Amino acid sequence: MHDKTLAELARGLAAGDFSSRELTTSLLARIKRHDPAINSFITVTEEQALEDADAADALRHRGEAGVLGGLPLAYKDIFCTEGVRTSAGSKMLDNFIAPYNATVVEKLRHAGTVSLGKTNMDEFAMGSSNENSYYGPVKNPWNPTLVPGGSSGGSAAAVAAGLAPAALGTDTGGSIRQPAAFCGITGLKPTYGRISRYGMIAYASSLDQAGPMARTAEDCAMLMNAMAGHDARDSTSVARNVPDYTQDLDKPLNGLKIGLPVEYFGEGLAPEVESAVREAVKVYESLGAQVIDVSLPHTRLAIPAYYVIAPAEASSNLSRYDGVRFGHRCEDPADLEDLYKRTRAEGFGDEVKRRILIGTHTLSEGFFDAYYRKAQQVRRLIRQDFLDAFTRVDVLMGPAAPTTAFELGAKADPVQMYLQDIYTIAINLAGIPGISVPAGLADNRPVGLQILGPHFGEAHLLNVAHVYQQATDWHQRRPEIKE
Ligand code: GLN
Repeated sequence: MHDKTLAELARGLAAGDFSSRELTTSLLARIKRHDPAINSFITVTEEQALEDADAADALRHRGEAGVLGGLPLAYKDIFCTEGVRTSAGSKMLDNFIAPYNATVVEKLRHAGTVSLGKTNMDEFAMGSSNENSYYGPVKNPWNPTLVPGGSSGGSAAAVAAGLAPAALGTDTGGSIRQPAAFCGITGLKPTYGRISRYGMIAYASSLDQAGPMARTAEDCAMLMNAMAGHDARDSTSVARNVPDYTQDLDKPLNGLKIGLPVEYFGEGLAPEVESAVREAVKVYESLGAQVIDVSLPHTRLAIPAYYVIAPAEASSNLSRYDGVRFGHRCEDPADLEDLYKRTRAEGFGDEVKRRILIGTHTLSEGFFDAYYRKAQQVRRLIRQDFLDAFTRVDVLMGPAAPTTAFELGAKADPVQMYLQDIYTIAINLAGIPGISVPAGLADNRPVGLQILGPHFGEAHLLNVAHVYQQATDWHQRRPEIKE
């Protein structure tokens, strides 16, 4: 059962081949057996999972189950879940029990899904390897000496290892797409504003977006149907109709215009990643697509602009962790100043402190115009690059990451780590959607093809990804895990 897609599991449940309790029990057993070596979960909510499963089975009995009824999911530990620890991968929130559900969690629960638990992540979603977690690194199920990518590495690893058929992640600069690529699964970063951020612990609010991580584009589409939509509690969520994302999945691709950004095939791209991506593009040509070269001239400014804007927003968002209302508090503070200082010194890890320092600096008087305002102007140019490209092509394609998964500990220099996001970060700055789909294996390490579309074009992206998955079997490859 652990090898099946969400769509297959949904059919099995509908046909009565197995119950949600049977499915859930078998996954919980797999998590017990395999997760100690992978470390993809921070919290497993066994009792709740079984209760959810029984409730879903009862609904099905009465003929009232929806499409997602009884399907088990895992949540990145950045989504608030009522009554369950929500740590954001930080010591700061190790003792934090969320008093309410994030809107997406609420919507998926309403759709009848089963919650298996909360997955491991880089602290406050800052990182590209999952090595910044207070709960220890996650191991890549394809090879335990490799990282799974980050910051949604726990979600990616859990799906790749067959511990959960699908999971939720968040993507601020690549955190859904890069781990999906490293673990050989499909991950969608929707348009900014498509999904409510209410109840998602904030990292960089103008960039953060939740999205599905699953085996296939079809599974991502099924989840999007439940996740997307306006939320009165998130003023940046967009009031715009939610299409049925599964409806046009099979639409033929003849005449599709694909743009290859020349900047995405230059220096720094590993040859084995480049050749897998070019092979994938050939598959699209054989399906009737037309390929042209395009340019996104401001690409090289994306990382510098992001590493001004994201830390600035983070320094503001993370100021709430002061030891007063919730989260970690230092022992015996001498006074208020001491409470703040020691609480934050003890509660945050090194990368988080680095970002708070950078962000506080760039927002401070005298530097704001030179750094923050300038970065916002650059952001505007980056967005315009994409808008211009989409007047000529329907989608853009390229690698999701410059390399395949690297060894744990290989990128001790933070700048080397930041360069991992070279192909993903501009997408968040522009607010457009992007999806990573498995497109090859190099030395038994998955390669991800990234497909980008215009704002609110996720239904089309899912169609483009799905048709590729009908023509190839990379998404069906699984890591070998000793039973
Ligand atoms: N790696 C990037 C960072 O560390 C992006 C992380 C993310 O998307 N959450 O900020």
